[in-house]
Amino acid sequence: MKKSTLTKKRKSILDLLKQNHLMTAKEICQALPHIDRATVYRGLEFLVRNGFVRELKLEKSAVQYELYEKETYHQHFFCTKCNKVFPIQMDMKSIKELITEPFTIEDFELNVKGLCAKCITC
Ligand SMILES: [Zn+2]
Ligand SMILES: [Zn+2]
Repeated sequence: MKKSTLTKKRKSILDLLKQNHLMTAKEICQALPHIDRATVYRGLEFLVRNGFVRELKLEKSAVQYELYEKETYHQHFFCTKCNKVFPIQMDMKSIKELITEPFTIEDFELNVKGLCAKCITC
């Protein structure tokens, strides 16, 4: 599906996610007060289903959404102390090298947990 086929409202959700890494549905609703909640939720569902947006569920936190693009493809590191999420650069090529079974890999999600640089020192 081409981006041009998106409705104006769905496009404004995408534009918002372009500027913000990881947002909950609630945050998206707050940032787009002119769009009603049901439309935002339906829009997100549509964008996830069509591969524009990716859902991320980490531990106790609410589902977060982010842009899903080849150019910005990344994985996540989750700090268990400050709850911050950091992007990790891990591409498809590296995961293919790690998995030696004869599988065809289409996608992967890697969530790494630990302490971020700031939390180690305090
Ligand atoms: Zn931290
Ligand atoms: Zn991310």
